Amino acid sequence: MHEMSLVQSIFALLREEMIKHDGKKLKKVVIKNGALAGVVTESLKFAWEALSPAEGFEGVALEVREIPIRVACGDCGEEFEPEHVRCMPCPRCDQLLGHKVLQGKEMLIDSIEIDDGQ
Ligand SMILES: [Zn+2]
Repeated sequence: MHEMSLVQSIFALLREEMIKHDGKKLKKVVIKNGALAGVVTESLKFAWEALSPAEGFEGVALEVREIPIRVACGDCGEEFEPEHVRCMPCPRCDQLLGHKVLQGKEMLIDSIEIDDGQ
């Protein structure tokens, strides 16, 4: 399950980020998971729960936003959200191949919430 190592690299990024917020507590992390990123949201959440205590992120909430695929047709330029990852007929001209992926590949930290301890 490569979600485990993915979550570990996310923790590494968060640790670096939290150096800038010295002494403050991380409350929540929002991650964008594109439909083409090859990451299973449930596995990501499971890995997060399993690893967070040992990594020093116990109790930090994880929100995963699933980003649908959006492509532009290689023939006519029509932009659409295909129903399937492997078969993407253009709704205007039926072209199956050569589409440009506009979104859906992303796997990144979108935002974090920090408790500034007021
Ligand atoms: Zn088209």
